[in-house]
Amino acid sequence: MRDDLIIPFQVGDGSVRGRIVRLGAAIDAVLRPHGFSDAVSELLGEAAALTALMGAGLKFDGKLIFQAQGEGDVRLLVADYCSDGALRATASVRGGENARGLAALMGKGHIALTIDQGPDMDRYQGVTPIEGETLEQAAIGYFDQSEQIPTAVRLAVGKITRRGEEAVWRAGGVIAQFMPAEGGTRARGEAVSAPQQDRETWDRAAAFLNSTQADELLDPALSPEELLYRLYHEDGVRVFEARPVRAACGCNASKIAAVLARYSEEELADLAVDGAISVDCEFCRRTYLFDTQGREAAQ
Ligand SMILES: [Zn+2]
Repeated sequence: MRDDLIIPFQVGDGSVRGRIVRLGAAIDAVLRPHGFSDAVSELLGEAAALTALMGAGLKFDGKLIFQAQGEGDVRLLVADYCSDGALRATASVRGGENARGLAALMGKGHIALTIDQGPDMDRYQGVTPIEGETLEQAAIGYFDQSEQIPTAVRLAVGKITRRGEEAVWRAGGVIAQFMPAEGGTRARGEAVSAPQQDRETWDRAAAFLNSTQADELLDPALSPEELLYRLYHEDGVRVFEARPVRAACGCNASKIAAVLARYSEEELADLAVDGAISVDCEFCRRTYLFDTQGREAAQ
């Protein structure tokens, strides 16, 4: 079984570029500690898979942060992916959540994508309104509006149960984009020699991807390479080196202690219960304990 990885690929001569992500233990570790309903877990898992797919496309080391804010039962979705493969995600939920999908759960709102290259670099942020029923449609709209890149996206999240074992979350996804200027056989700036042919390759690639079923994206018995071959063998598909993904959170006691240090003695006393201040990380749900001076308590 090949899980927890992202594989870049190209179709035809390279005018179609994409990445496939397959998440097993990593997405289970991201979703399970939150204990959200299935509907919220599915949406958050989609956001995490999309963030990994987009973050792995960065051409430099950095972090991609996905944030969706809405007025519905889910107020906030956050996922971030670092170039070293660390993925984490969280949501803020106010209850209800009988519906499924982005629009039904979040209502009106917007999606912001931030690229963070470290403290000395400018942050880039693109913002788009939540449009379409699904996160897939919203992502396609984002690329259309902010980058004018024709894009196809498929995302799937589901629980798999093996006999005698607890159900585990899995996620899968594919992003494909039409980038004729980056065709592999052409020098940069050289005129596109066969634009019509490139366009047809793209139309086929998008149509095949859109016909992909959720179970193909999730099936542990179908490797990502086999799925890509199934989709794109007609035009030829070339896969590049896989990149690992893991569930990892950057929280630690000293970061939280630095935040507590800004509070007054009275404020710290108000936060304390039975002489201890308890702080939960909203991403990994780990609990940190501090004394009433904001010093880390022995765990
Ligand atoms: Zn954490």
